[in-house]
Amino acid sequence: MKPKDGYSAEELLNSTQGLSYNDFIILPGYIDFNPDDVDLETQFTRNLKLKRPLVSSPMDTVTESKMAISLALLGGIGIIHYNNTIEEQVAQVRKVKRFENGFITDPVVLSPEHTIAHIDEIKEKFGFSGIPITVDGNLGSKLVGIVTNRDIDFETDRSKKLKDVMTTDLVTAKVGITLAQANELLKKSKKGKLPIVDDEGKLVALMSRNDLVTNREYPFASKDTNKQLMVGAAISTKDESKERLQELVKAGVNVVVIDAAQGNSIYQIEMIKYIKKKYPELDVIAGNVVTIEQCENLIKAGADALRIGMGPGSICTTQVTMAVGRAQSTAVYRCSKFAKQYNIPTIADGGIATIGHIAKALALGASTAMMGSMFAGTEEAPGEYFYENGVRLKRYRGMASLEAMEKGGSKRYFAEDSKILVAQGVSGAVVDKGSMFDYVPYLVQGLKHAFQDMGVRTIKELHEKLYKEELRFELRSLSAQIEGGVHTIYSYKEPKYL
Ligand code: IMP
Repeated sequence: MKPKDGYSAEELLNSTQGLSYNDFIILPGYIDFNPDDVDLETQFTRNLKLKRPLVSSPMDTVTESKMAISLALLGGIGIIHYNNTIEEQVAQVRKVKRFENGFITDPVVLSPEHTIAHIDEIKEKFGFSGIPITVDGNLGSKLVGIVTNRDIDFETDRSKKLKDVMTTDLVTAKVGITLAQANELLKKSKKGKLPIVDDEGKLVALMSRNDLVTNREYPFASKDTNKQLMVGAAISTKDESKERLQELVKAGVNVVVIDAAQGNSIYQIEMIKYIKKKYPELDVIAGNVVTIEQCENLIKAGADALRIGMGPGSICTTQVTMAVGRAQSTAVYRCSKFAKQYNIPTIADGGIATIGHIAKALALGASTAMMGSMFAGTEEAPGEYFYENGVRLKRYRGMASLEAMEKGGSKRYFAEDSKILVAQGVSGAVVDKGSMFDYVPYLVQGLKHAFQDMGVRTIKELHEKLYKEELRFELRSLSAQIEGGVHTIYSYKEPKYL
């Protein structure tokens, strides 16, 4: 029998030393298929599947509705953070649930009593000028006209009321129209905007000609049985969460994440039991955990998925300050292997900085990867861009940074009632990564190539090979790690994404 090269994950990761993603490498497999034959569908929780194994962190500089919408359209899922009031978090969830591709469901609306000057202000602020006019200036009220550039560009009196300049000869579409039909109507009508109205003529949404070219269909979108985009929301183990949860469920949230840095607590176990009893249909992601004992407690309480990671996050100081945690590769492997016996999927959370790290997390048994820093800095992440030394950046901060905790983010760390807040994270900035709509397809294609090199077509097959010990690994010495990166060249330009 020919000897097996490399080592099994068990041999690699059952040692006295915890390993991180960079400490090891995966040995190549056999290629008899194209990258496009790779299918990245995965089990996200006990009952929910995703077409792409990508999840965005519940952090106030990462996931609000825009991030959640883009990621769900692209096949992953976003978890809305809870460093906000119940109303604010629920409004974010509602925006995702109400989203219809190509339809603007929260257009700027004015009333006939507004003036041209108001349109000028909107144009200045948002850059567009085709504004629907309803009786009282609100969405959901009867549509009476539309004001476009052509109605006002030669008008010198900017105090003129919109009722005197608006176009009332309207082309509208009825709610329920498909994206393709609406696009056709827009093309034929030669108008800039297409208002969507209900049976009583009340304005429900708007379509814009400018969006026509970008109105792509998203075949991998994560949708629920109502054909709405899927979204998750974070809650804490505090009592306040019960009320939060009730409102989130009403808004149609698909999954909740109990967000705690150390998940193995009586508070979390009670919260899981409470949720499973009151909302048996709702999947609960519990965590965070890094040991088998922690996993066991949360699985027994009823968790539908586990979030793995304590201390590997890019903004995290937990291991430095608390002396507790675990190296992430070891944590992902040990916890995933244990949870598998119960068919509970795991999420590798934190410390992921490259496509290779996502591939490694999946190869160690995780079903999805959760990312903060990788998605912060995209156009869809909350916050405005700013420049530092000529570099375009966005803020990114730990939820246990002093800054975030002062805004209310300490719920994750049992610190809410303490007088002295001890930081377990930092506040910083990340480089502009452009739009998720360019970035995520790149990540997905990169992952498909990684799977091809490993010789596996699906995540299921990857996990089978892992546990059959056919997937082979090797430790990398420090010089092997240097050798594996770019080295000994005078200068080079790093690719936009890694
Ligand atoms: P990243 O992808 O490496 O940036 O890590 C993101 C993850 O770090 C999140 O999903 C959380 O699990 C974790 N995290 C968020 N805020 C903090 C913090 O302030 N301290 C420690 N960990 C944090």
